[in-house]
Amino acid sequence: MTAGSKQSAGARAVTVAVGDGIGPEIVAAALRVLGAAGAPIAPEFITVGQEAYTRGITSGIPGDAWESIRRTGLLLKGPITTPQGGGFKSVNVTLRKSLGLYANVRPCAALAPYVPTRHPTMDLVIVRENEEDLYAGIEHRQTDEVMQCLKLITRPGCERIVRYAFEYARVHGRRKVTCMSKDNIMKLTDGLFHSVYDEIGAEYPQIEKEHLIIDIGAARLADTPERFDVIVTGNLYGDILSDIAAQIAGSVGMAGSANIGEHGAMFEAIHGSAPDIAGRDIANPSGVLMAAVLLLVHAGMPTVAAAIHNAWLRTLEEGIHTVDIFRSETSQRQVGTAAFADAIIERLGQLPQSLKPVDYAASATDAMTLSLPPYRRPAPLKKEIVGVDVFLHWCSGSTEELAGLLGGIRSESMYLEMITNRGVKVWPNGLPETFCTDHWRCRFKAVPSVGTIRHSDIVSLLAQVTGIGLDFIKSENLCCFDGEPGFQMGQGQ
Ligand code: NAD
Repeated sequence: MTAGSKQSAGARAVTVAVGDGIGPEIVAAALRVLGAAGAPIAPEFITVGQEAYTRGITSGIPGDAWESIRRTGLLLKGPITTPQGGGFKSVNVTLRKSLGLYANVRPCAALAPYVPTRHPTMDLVIVRENEEDLYAGIEHRQTDEVMQCLKLITRPGCERIVRYAFEYARVHGRRKVTCMSKDNIMKLTDGLFHSVYDEIGAEYPQIEKEHLIIDIGAARLADTPERFDVIVTGNLYGDILSDIAAQIAGSVGMAGSANIGEHGAMFEAIHGSAPDIAGRDIANPSGVLMAAVLLLVHAGMPTVAAAIHNAWLRTLEEGIHTVDIFRSETSQRQVGTAAFADAIIERLGQLPQSLKPVDYAASATDAMTLSLPPYRRPAPLKKEIVGVDVFLHWCSGSTEELAGLLGGIRSESMYLEMITNRGVKVWPNGLPETFCTDHWRCRFKAVPSVGTIRHSDIVSLLAQVTGIGLDFIKSENLCCFDGEPGFQMGQGQ
């Protein structure tokens, strides 16, 4: 199975992107193992990533690549280098979002004593939300000094990932689902994630539940990963947690991941393109090989998947290790990428002697695509506009001077309630110690006798703001939903 392979009759077509950096060498190694094991797949090679970027395709994904991925519905992907800046978008994020691959499932288990780790009994699965959060890629430069990235969290997105995590735990016989968020600070976005977790968790009384604030959760994961089973969390937190988990289990080079959607699935290692070691035949191909094993299980080929997984375990057990996991106390022979694949191939058909062999065929519980109920949109809430936050780019004077200018605005429906800078209240009664940038949020609230305002009130307010020479960047309506405020107060308010 190499680039240019033709699809053989009866084999399942799988789109393969070898990726950048170490991608070509580790994917080639993994495909050799699959070929030797007789995995009935027919790779269709596509080019995404750096080569596509240099051809001017800013998404990094040419049209023929999309065609193949959408037709096969199965993608094995090597790591892709994301260029810094230059208007290029991350191929990884684009693929996950465009194909609706909402769940990123990252199993991470220790292989002690053969792969050195301080956590020999850790065995956890991170279920990471894959489409939302700060990865929406909606970023703007708003002023000379301030950049903004929008964090979008939706109810359907939370419901789907949380439900997936509980269903995954149920189907795979896992005992606990831990939720991690930062809802003590991000009360609306992370607060929604947490409350959906509580709602859906209540439907799974047999599964233990806990919620941890992400900072202490990450600390506990690094310290005592054995206490975790399934972790469900948002996109950014999940990205960070899964590298921590893979690293403390032995190496970031070891873990594979599945990106699951309703219409397709993508499988990849959790690590990146490792440009520091590319082209040297020293990278560990285990992550992408384990991703391929997940793909085979997902595609209904559990027997060959188990054969590969067991040969891999046997190879590790015999101390045949790539440099990232080689330790003189536990390893026998240090090998390169290709030789590691050869060693696995030699052991196809053998079971590990002391590590527990896998037997995917034994049950139907290895499915990655879980059937979830469709999202039911609840009845719309009563929405009322009770004010507006007007964001200004301003660096011409003090806070008092800005408040003085805004005080000149005449509105019968709204009054200036406060001004914040980076979220901290600086007017009225701000502290002189608070450092101010050139980015101001000015909160106008409906006067109590009016109660609610209309869009036209906001438009005329903004006209007055520009009329006095102020540069408004954007406005954000302040709404109540069934009487509940849909906005936070300013810090220090
Ligand atoms: P990285 O995961 O590529 O490398 C981090 C460290 O781990 C490096 O020291 C590297 O040598 C080592 N490492 C990684 N994989 C290894 C393996 N298989 N065997 C042995 N050692 C391995 O992370 P990075 O350096 O932050 O990112 C490099 C590039 O990869 C960036 O452009 C980033 O955007 C991209 N990236 C892509 C993906 C993906 O394609 N899914 C994921 C993460 C990062």
